[in-house]
Amino acid sequence: MSTGKDYYAILGVNKGASQEEIKKAYRKLALKYHPDRNPGDKSAEEKFKEINEAYDILKDEQKRAAYDRYGSSAFQNGDASGFSSQGFSDFSEFSDIFSNMFGDIFGGASSGSRGNQKRSSPPGANIRYDVTVTLEELLTGTKKKIRYKTYNKCSKCNGNGCENSKGPSVCPQCGGRGSVRQQHGFITIDTVCQHCGGNGSVISNPCKECHGSGRVIGERNLEITIPAGIGSSNEMLIRQEGEAGYQGGPNGDLIIFINLLPHDFFTVKGVDLYCTIYIPITTAILGGEIIVKDLAEKDHSIKIPHGTQSNTQFVISSCGLYNRNNRRYGDILVNIIVETPVDLSKNQQEIIEKFSSDPAFVKNNPKSKQSQEQINKLKK
Ligand SMILES: [Zn+2]
Ligand SMILES: [Zn+2]
Repeated sequence: MSTGKDYYAILGVNKGASQEEIKKAYRKLALKYHPDRNPGDKSAEEKFKEINEAYDILKDEQKRAAYDRYGSSAFQNGDASGFSSQGFSDFSEFSDIFSNMFGDIFGGASSGSRGNQKRSSPPGANIRYDVTVTLEELLTGTKKKIRYKTYNKCSKCNGNGCENSKGPSVCPQCGGRGSVRQQHGFITIDTVCQHCGGNGSVISNPCKECHGSGRVIGERNLEITIPAGIGSSNEMLIRQEGEAGYQGGPNGDLIIFINLLPHDFFTVKGVDLYCTIYIPITTAILGGEIIVKDLAEKDHSIKIPHGTQSNTQFVISSCGLYNRNNRRYGDILVNIIVETPVDLSKNQQEIIEKFSSDPAFVKNNPKSKQSQEQINKLKK
């Protein structure tokens, strides 16, 4: 080392010292020369600055390597390391935590991030609540009274968790940052402050009602409005009705899941309602009329033409559910099934036999004829 200071000598370690040894030496000296312990002692203050300067370089393997090659002149203008501007601007932070020096927080003291803002209290958790509605209720919309257990804000301390009105105080371990910084060679790791749980504040006189959490288990009663029809999802977000936050943090949200009770007659697909109606074979043959009631109990007449087949679909327009996205109503889709008569009397059987023996019968059933022809082709 031809120029500048000998940082190894300042910290009292040899050139090959490990990071662990450097850190240990630094702590010991920093404690000894800290201005708080040497009030008014100019030489101690100088020494303390020197120790910090040395540590700032040697704890960083890159800076240390540069220093080993070029000496401390490599860092004179703060360019290579920034230590001259950085090392002491964090000094106040260093002082703050000095009285609570535990373990590794010290290592990060001279290179830590700025900013002393206290982390805000975390919000309460969201709550899921399942509501079941009938199809009729979904058609028109409805109101539901719901009741659930959750954390409510403690009324005694108004959520701040303190027994008297003084409120929480800044965490002495992290100085209100909520995190502590650890240096491991090249890597700097911020970890949540164990003392305050990341809050940045601590309560020395916890509220007796909520034990400092600012919230108590209780009940919430709400009347919720289920809108008519179908939206983009079956979830409804009700803001701020979830769990109260810890120590005055904001409430979580309440998420309502709307479940539809199966209906006896209609099946729901989107906003359309499907139903199946059986008709007697005579109506299918001769034609006729059927009446379908919609969910609002309004009658709709459907004309059945003669020769109607099974799985013929009839549409009753705009009598389904309301679509909140496009503000239109779905349809009712009626699927017709032709019922084959069962348990025929002897007389009925004779009539049917006579009916089917008519030479025109084959022509009356063109699809049956077609199917038979296809089968015969396969056989060849
Ligand atoms: Zn309380
Ligand atoms: Zn803390």
